[in-house]
Amino acid sequence: MVFGSAEAKGFDVVIVGGGAAGLSAALMLGRARRSVLVVDEGLPRNRFAPHMHGLLSRDGMSPLALLEQGRAEASRYGVEFAEGQVTGIERAERGFVVHGPVEALGRRVVVATGLVDVLPDIPGVQNLWGTGAVVCPYCDGWEVRDQPLGVIATSPMSRNQAHLLRQWSSDLTVFGAVEVGIPESELAGFAARGIRVAAPALEVSGSLGHITVRTAAGSHELSRIFVGARPRPADELLRSLGCATTDTPAGPFISTDATGQTSVAGVWAVGNVSDQKALVPIALGAGTAAATQINISLLEEEIAEALAA
Ligand SMILES: Cc1cc2nc3c(=O)[nH]c(=O)nc-3n(C[C@H](O)[C@H](O)[C@H](O)COP(=O)(O)OP(=O)(O)OC[C@H]3O[C@@H](n4cnc5c(N)ncnc54)[C@H](O)[C@@H]3O)c2cc1C
Repeated sequence: MVFGSAEAKGFDVVIVGGGAAGLSAALMLGRARRSVLVVDEGLPRNRFAPHMHGLLSRDGMSPLALLEQGRAEASRYGVEFAEGQVTGIERAERGFVVHGPVEALGRRVVVATGLVDVLPDIPGVQNLWGTGAVVCPYCDGWEVRDQPLGVIATSPMSRNQAHLLRQWSSDLTVFGAVEVGIPESELAGFAARGIRVAAPALEVSGSLGHITVRTAAGSHELSRIFVGARPRPADELLRSLGCATTDTPAGPFISTDATGQTSVAGVWAVGNVSDQKALVPIALGAGTAAATQINISLLEEEIAEALAA
């Protein structure tokens, strides 16, 4: 469907972000015979990781291979793709104008732009990110079960990461727990479960399986470190449209209903951009839930238009 200005091509749905959430929505909308454009910058959050875990039937697959396959599958149903960054979304008479590598009009917009992991400013962490330094015990805990592990504490919430990780290994050290504000009262819980507390990490080095954490008091040899990265949702486009947010322990996130519909009619937000806990299978499901609801909303509009005509 083409509508709007002569230059901009029109689509039923424009999807910003082609990670797990965006591609999943695109696949289902394409299969529903909707015209769909996916605009993607190509920087998925897990691009640093060689393997992805916990996704039924794809456990251990490369995250980038999953997305490549997803693009190929969606293409079969006519989904179009544009590479690059969307820089703005504006309301139009019948939907939204999306500005970026191409200008496109969408009757509905899905923003699936993910989040950025803000890492602590400790030399070496960035270099090891995705291999020797990771964030999620569910994603990477099994591979290092019963091995010496570390948690680089970054906030009082690192208390939860440490206790969780203890399920995978009893040889666990938390660096900088007190310094980031984990209350002294919590240290008894660490001690009761055999979790050691050490001084803050000054530097991290090594490679996968052989990580050295240096503190003011000495060095620790570990298999892997888990880092309390701060999630920063890539939600600027949604905020500029006026989408409401909800406060969470990790900061404000865009509010949605169960299908990803935001407070702004016609705008959906799916995956990590609106849900910090959206691991790949959750992001995939969120994309599907949004797609089916968007299709219904387009259908209702078409029924009303047919009646009016
Ligand atoms: C190191 C690491 C390892 C992980 N391992 C696992 C694992 O093993 N299993 C698991 O289930 N989960 C894992 N995750 C979590 C996983 O990364 C997320 O669940 C998943 O990426 C969420 O998908 P998404 O589609 O919401 O966002 P993303 O995958 O981040 O995709 C967002 C896309 O939108 C694009 N984009 C952003 N802004 C714009 C813009 N303005 N214009 C155009 N495009 C834009 C980005 O470039 C990106 O391509 C891991 C995360 C990390 C950091």
